Amino acid sequence: MSDELKRSHVEVIKETSHQLRGTLAEELLHDHEFGKDSEHLIKNHGIYQQDDRDTRKAKNADGTARGKQYIFMVRTRIPGGKVTARQFLDHLDVCDEHGNGTLRVTTRQGFQLHGVIKHELKAAVKKINETLLTTLAACGDVERNVMCCPAPIKNNPVHDQMQAMADAIAEHLKPRTTAYHEIWLTDEAGEKTNVAEFKPVDEPIYGTVYLPRKFKTAIALPEDNCIDIYTQDLGFLAVVEGDRILGYNVLVGGGQGKTPSAEKTFVAIAKRMAFVTPEQVVGVAEAIVKVQRDFGNREDRKVARLKYTIHNHGLAWFKSKVEEYYGQTLPEPNPVDVTDVDDHIGWHEQGDGLLFLGINIECGRIKDDGALRMKTGLRTLLQKYGMTTRLTALQSVILCDIKPADKPEIIRILSDHGIKQDHELTLLRRYSIACPAFPTCGLSITESERALPGIIDELDLEMAKLGLQHDRIAVHMTGCPNGCARPYTPDIGLVGKQAGVGGALGKYTIYLGGNAQGTRLAYIYQDAVPQAEIVSTLAVALRFYKANRLTGESFGDFCHRKGQSELQSLQI
Ligand code: SF4
Repeated sequence: MSDELKRSHVEVIKETSHQLRGTLAEELLHDHEFGKDSEHLIKNHGIYQQDDRDTRKAKNADGTARGKQYIFMVRTRIPGGKVTARQFLDHLDVCDEHGNGTLRVTTRQGFQLHGVIKHELKAAVKKINETLLTTLAACGDVERNVMCCPAPIKNNPVHDQMQAMADAIAEHLKPRTTAYHEIWLTDEAGEKTNVAEFKPVDEPIYGTVYLPRKFKTAIALPEDNCIDIYTQDLGFLAVVEGDRILGYNVLVGGGQGKTPSAEKTFVAIAKRMAFVTPEQVVGVAEAIVKVQRDFGNREDRKVARLKYTIHNHGLAWFKSKVEEYYGQTLPEPNPVDVTDVDDHIGWHEQGDGLLFLGINIECGRIKDDGALRMKTGLRTLLQKYGMTTRLTALQSVILCDIKPADKPEIIRILSDHGIKQDHELTLLRRYSIACPAFPTCGLSITESERALPGIIDELDLEMAKLGLQHDRIAVHMTGCPNGCARPYTPDIGLVGKQAGVGGALGKYTIYLGGNAQGTRLAYIYQDAVPQAEIVSTLAVALRFYKANRLTGESFGDFCHRKGQSELQSLQI
């Protein structure tokens, strides 16, 4: 069999797409949904074609099936989650004008619009670009949004330097294709791109087929792993001395997704590979991406992420290939490692006389819902004060550069809109995140975002009964094993269970033994747990923890110390 025949169909779609053009421009002119090939291609433009799964079985007045109601998710790529007030306000306008009226903060510090209908798509993308942000490469087989600790600390240059590094990596690794501009940002007359006259631009990093799979990069501090560096394809962990970043430990091959029915797939935490100076970061990132481009699996997308390339060839081989591509050997990592994490919620001093305020957004969904008017509250604050904001990896928002004199009025505005401050929230809620799942994600097996708030309500009560209400326990929930909300490393992971023989709809695999710092993998505590029994099943482990923990031991550390078999042997 030739190499050509061995490639997956998505590889062929990319290679014959004229640098990510395909027939997207032509298909945009029609009312019906994008075809299957375009559905893959459009992800590289930051867009997912979805349908409203709540209405799949709806009927027309005459009793005939309505069929799928196609809608789109549009994701904005925002390195380090750094957003001006104007950009934030414009996104709130875009979600009202072109989406379903909600704006979502993602687990990778981006924004997502949901429920965009096809004839609104181009206007939505155009308006996002008018804010000087882009959706290009927010999804797809390219470098995704580069994450970075978002705390706006100003009493030393470390955080600013990390953000500048995130911007530099994102800029260097972005696709160079002009297809995005031609398809989304031209006026009506230029709408139809003519592939017959196509002249390729140089794609120095991606070539003609881009990467075998998505690629995720992040930058963290040892004492604040808020961006979950061990879950990334590529992580740079800052090694700081005084006010200076000496360099970064390079971590490679983390990845959360797996397919339970395919034994060859697995979840991995990243491996510590090397130490690099700040000047080497961008070049080494490029070398790593290129090695993955050339050696990643292009036959089977299930095993195409960087973690499989490293697993198949070994870390030593991978490092030597990176050194070959980079043109220089790289020293072993510095002993520095992750020690803690911070969600940045609440009031904090920036170190320059100003304050920042972290506001928890449950499951990242910015909307007005009854007494909690998060969307209007944020709009009011941004219009009045115009502060820069940062999006966190725990799906929340930081308002920066606040004058201390404005604090009382800001607290009043928060209160008027039912927005809770840090002391009104349990740590359990603050450290909980969820993927969207139903009704928009086509891969979801179970609820996630719509279920987690109720689960946290119940779990809060259980924790209070046990006197654990001040414990920091991270809960990450997803509607399928793909792991978009990183469920395999926190204290508690809740993962929608693939339907097996007899079906398993509404059931979850519960993982325990990770930690809020995200430095190790959790194990399966109980499998196929119905949604209604999640809290009672966890309560058994929490009671065991309360009775047997060591002084100062976290729930995750306790479960890790006791181990899977002891936890699984508890009477549920
Ligand atoms: Fe969809 Fe699964 Fe990702 Fe959740 S984890 S958003 S259900 S693919």
